[in-house]
Amino acid sequence: MKSKAIKKDKSNKKASLGHVLKKNEKIKQTVKKAASELTSVNEVLKQENIPAQIMKQAITQNEDVEQKVAKAADDLKLVNVKLAEEMAERIVIESELADTKTDLAEVRDDLSKAQVKTEEAQQSALQDALTGLPNRLSFEQGLGHGLSQAKRHGWGLAVLFIDIDKFKSINDSYGHDLGDQVLLMVANRLKSFVRDEDIVSRWGGDEFVCLLLEVKQEADVTQLAEKMINRVAEAFEFQGTVLSIRASIGIAIYPADGDTSEILFKNADIAMYKAKGTEQRVVLFRESGEQKVG
Ligand code: GH3
Ligand code: MG
Repeated sequence: MKSKAIKKDKSNKKASLGHVLKKNEKIKQTVKKAASELTSVNEVLKQENIPAQIMKQAITQNEDVEQKVAKAADDLKLVNVKLAEEMAERIVIESELADTKTDLAEVRDDLSKAQVKTEEAQQSALQDALTGLPNRLSFEQGLGHGLSQAKRHGWGLAVLFIDIDKFKSINDSYGHDLGDQVLLMVANRLKSFVRDEDIVSRWGGDEFVCLLLEVKQEADVTQLAEKMINRVAEAFEFQGTVLSIRASIGIAIYPADGDTSEILFKNADIAMYKAKGTEQRVVLFRESGEQKVG
């Protein structure tokens, strides 16, 4: 709004400045013409024995030229005043333009700050605050996307449901802070097994879920799950306290154990509960003895 007004004002100023310059040019022409007329008059007056009539004409012409020069001088004064006004107005316009530029820079700065905040908010909406892992919502999005890719390309896909055994007793025995450190340790150890395109997510509490894409063989998945369990079970030390934990993993593989996100997730959960009830730490849904749903 402000810049539009300035633009309009600026174009008026431009027209007015043009007018002043034109006038200046006209005065210059008048003075030039007067000078040449004066030269002719002088030529006449220099002659000897000039007839009275010619002399009178030359004097009249001389007075004429003097009047024109006097008028040109007055006009020039006006032009100079106008030019000074123009200069003053130009300075005001330039300072207004500078202000507008500053305003625009501030608006741009505010916008980019707002953008950073929005991106941070979007990021934290998809991230678990304690472990920094993708959260439940992020996992669900990844599973939906991964499943449609698997269907399109005929790939296999695995959902692993991982739960720490007797985690509550760790909190009760060692305190909540150490419980948090255990959750962080589990998150980092699980993450170290998967590729960039796979997802390890904290589902909530002491539960984690893992999505493996482009699965070729069932055995690859069960072997990876065994490795995860063994790594998580390795002794962990925090501020002088050493402890070992165990976890259970249930697995559901697309297409054999379900063909929707919900069914795969539910069957992985069922298999995990089977694993908790036995000494077998990793259970594939198909081998859990449960009926496939869906
Ligand atoms: P199970 O062997 O059957 O899995 O039992 P559990 O004790 O591991 O599981 P349960 O669901 O009974 O307890 C999970 C506990 O995790 C309960 C809750 O206090 C604790 N918890 C949930 N979120 C956090 C957290 O962010 N930090 C810590 N330290 N503890 C948490
Ligand atoms: Mg648990």
